[in-house]
Amino acid sequence: MTNILYDALIAPNARNEAVFLHCDDGSTLSYRRFVGRVAQLANVLQAAGVKPGDRVVVQAPKLADTIALYAAAVQAGAVYLPLNTGYTQAELAYFIGDATPALVVCDAANEGQVAPVCNGVQILTLAEGGAGSLSQQADAMPTCFETVPRGPEDLAALLYTSGTTGRSKGAMLSHKNLLSNAQVLTDLWQITQGDRLIHALPIFHTHGLFVAMNTCLLAGAQVRFMAAFDVNAILDEIPASTMLMGVPTFYTRLLDDPRLTRDLCRNMRLFVSGSAPLLAETHTDFEGRTGHRILERYGMTETNMITSNPFDGARVAGTVGFALPGTEVEITADGNPLPAGEIGMIEVRGDNVFQGYWNMPEKTAEELRDNGFFITGDLGVKSADGRISIVGRQKDLIISGGYNIYPKEIEDVINDVIGVLESAVFGVAHADFGESVVAAVVLEKDTELDGAAIAEVVEPLLARFKHPRRYVMLEALPRNTMGKVQKNILRAEYG
Ligand code: ATP
Ligand code: MG
Repeated sequence: MTNILYDALIAPNARNEAVFLHCDDGSTLSYRRFVGRVAQLANVLQAAGVKPGDRVVVQAPKLADTIALYAAAVQAGAVYLPLNTGYTQAELAYFIGDATPALVVCDAANEGQVAPVCNGVQILTLAEGGAGSLSQQADAMPTCFETVPRGPEDLAALLYTSGTTGRSKGAMLSHKNLLSNAQVLTDLWQITQGDRLIHALPIFHTHGLFVAMNTCLLAGAQVRFMAAFDVNAILDEIPASTMLMGVPTFYTRLLDDPRLTRDLCRNMRLFVSGSAPLLAETHTDFEGRTGHRILERYGMTETNMITSNPFDGARVAGTVGFALPGTEVEITADGNPLPAGEIGMIEVRGDNVFQGYWNMPEKTAEELRDNGFFITGDLGVKSADGRISIVGRQKDLIISGGYNIYPKEIEDVINDVIGVLESAVFGVAHADFGESVVAAVVLEKDTELDGAAIAEVVEPLLARFKHPRRYVMLEALPRNTMGKVQKNILRAEYG
């Protein structure tokens, strides 16, 4: 019997004595023991009545057992549904109501919060040190389990989007979607059993769960599994590691520390960035300090990874690289492909593209074309040699006096003003022009600048119709739990 994802990621490690996870408390978990733990947890799921295709909702701390639970759900033929640990009770109520799971697994410390919104669905718990009911039941189970057969189109996970532009949508991801992407990335980034990844990302998001864990499982690589991002801990681990996968703030925070040097990074072979735009300046500064060119890639919950800068070959700052092997990327206007150099909608087709939105057939029909192309909602441009650059989300595009204005272009200019830390440019309704441009600006520490002073630097560099009509100075930009800037909140606040 076959179970596409389990057979590729987990089963081959059944006799592998190498270390899989290095945990914060200094303990390690071998691949062989991990595979046994996965079977124990799969037995718990089955005993709890979880049937093939049932959703298992998991809002749990970042533990070895949480990763094993993901693999166990796959082995039991269930659909793994991880949730951001920051979600409140009201948010949980939405996800549980929408996904109608057969089982909810939560942090033992939160059970009192979670139970009232479970509508009677069974709850098991996970806790540090193996104290939760799920872990305890697993301890008593056999370390073998008859894998439930699953085909390429069967769902392996239901992953909700980050909710940057509105309510999170459940992306239905099949075994084929996840495995094809893991294979392509492992191959492209040359991940092998000789690698040791520093893992400081959350495991409820596509980046930390699928990009990081699926590739390492497939390669049999070691993972330094950190409960949270901590600059000191990462600097300590760099000399013994080979890879880091992070979001742009990982890199800016590492750069803030003088201990980050070329010598410290001499054993490292790959730094990956994604989930949000990496400033070209961060890329350049990082290379100056360490000699490493950060490899930026682009993806989304619905599609897994779409593009990557090359492993061998030039990594170009400010671009997200080439379409991954087996993935087609087109830049379109009204559904028609545009030539190189023109800005349009990024559309993508391939085995990595999801099966549709859970419970949202209309939204699925709007965004997933009959010919298999998915309309990402991101605007981008392709160079003559096929490199993609992201210009921003279509929802953030500003149309003023009939002109298209791309916020990123203005943000790049504002960010270059000395004393500016970061900015977010957005449109607000304007009686004459349709929309007018507003810039929210965060200054560097101990800097004093006002909108007029910034405008003086910015205006000579941009056409008049792109000039922000208003600057608002903020302490910080509003971000969601994934660290992404929420322009819908800025629009609502300053519109
Ligand atoms: P929602 O769809 O709920 O509004 P979201 O789009 O932020 O939330 P995710 O699927 O986590 O949810 O994020 C995917 C988005 O992240 C992409 O559509 C893109 O806008 C952005 N993104 C990912 N990688 C990059 C990158 N390297 N550069 C710029 N943007 C990126
Ligand atoms: Mg999205």
